[in-house]
Amino acid sequence: MKVLITGGAGFIGSHLAEALLACGQEVVALDDLSTGSLQNILHLMRRPGFAFVLGSIMDATAVDQAVRAADAVYHLGAAVGVRLVFEQPVRTMETNVRGTQHVLDACLRHGRKVFVASTSEVYGKDVRNGTGRFREDDDITIGPSMRWCYATSKALDEFMARAYAADKGLPVVIGRYFNTVGPRQSPAYGMVLPRFAEQALAGRPITVYGDGRQVRSFSWVGDVVEATVRLMETPAAEGQVFNIGSDEPVTVRELAHRVRAQTASASPIVHVPYEEAYGPGFEDILYRVPELTKLRAFVGFTPRLCLDEIIDRVVTYTRERLAVGAGSAAASIRDPRRT
Ligand code: UDP
Repeated sequence: MKVLITGGAGFIGSHLAEALLACGQEVVALDDLSTGSLQNILHLMRRPGFAFVLGSIMDATAVDQAVRAADAVYHLGAAVGVRLVFEQPVRTMETNVRGTQHVLDACLRHGRKVFVASTSEVYGKDVRNGTGRFREDDDITIGPSMRWCYATSKALDEFMARAYAADKGLPVVIGRYFNTVGPRQSPAYGMVLPRFAEQALAGRPITVYGDGRQVRSFSWVGDVVEATVRLMETPAAEGQVFNIGSDEPVTVRELAHRVRAQTASASPIVHVPYEEAYGPGFEDILYRVPELTKLRAFVGFTPRLCLDEIIDRVVTYTRERLAVGAGSAAASIRDPRRT
């Protein structure tokens, strides 16, 4: 079996590549390295069965060639991260909508099954006011702020995928990823847990946006990848949408305290107004936790690691990353050829 992963050099894509290679599958990672990076897949480059193709999902010809050469497709390529999409709404819409259409068209032409990665953002605002978890059949409620252009583009991806399934018989599975963390995730795009870990370890203030009462649940990337692969291998999942994440809730303020405690850090916890963090007009989601009954029913599995284990692992890899960064900074000071 040869699989194509669009966004294969991204955070989740690179872990998916690793897991599929470990199962004996061949993997081709297609990525334009916009938010993904070669660093994420360097360790896979020499592995038999792995190939990297530098290319964009915006390039219909590149997509067609890659899909034709594969037996199945995991479509994870997208413009990601709330901060990035808030700053570049046009690029976000174009990449997510046109790129996905290229992938679906190619899969249809060549008769390939496709997993479409979506996001909990599509639920939009928390219409339950913190009284319940998001279910796949919930209404989608978005507002007029530009933040919702990301959710809109991914919701359109989902509807396109479902339409290709219903109308044209394309085998698709759609997964809505909730907050996922793990090695190689960049804190640069605003992801809260790696940011808190880095701030705590560096002794800098831990920045809680707003009053910190907003609720999230965090899942470990290895668990998320396992759920993804199992869904793809489950024929009954075709044409359906699934939440993929953890259902252990935590407020962002509590998260800050737990990270500080687990790192034994003396960092102060500071509150930063949303306006200062994201610019004017930003609307946060106050409660975002998935209902996982459907995922469990279809694949007999939901993410396993509890929050304390996840924080522990994130702290460990952040510590390693900071040590490597400090090492290369020291090397660049010692090496006169480097500026
Ligand atoms: N957040 C925070 N401090 C940070 C980064 C994020 O308090 O330094 C908050 C953010 O406003 C949101 C939550 O943490 O309420 C999760 O943010 P993230 O960007 O990780 O994911 P989201 O769930 O918003 O997609």
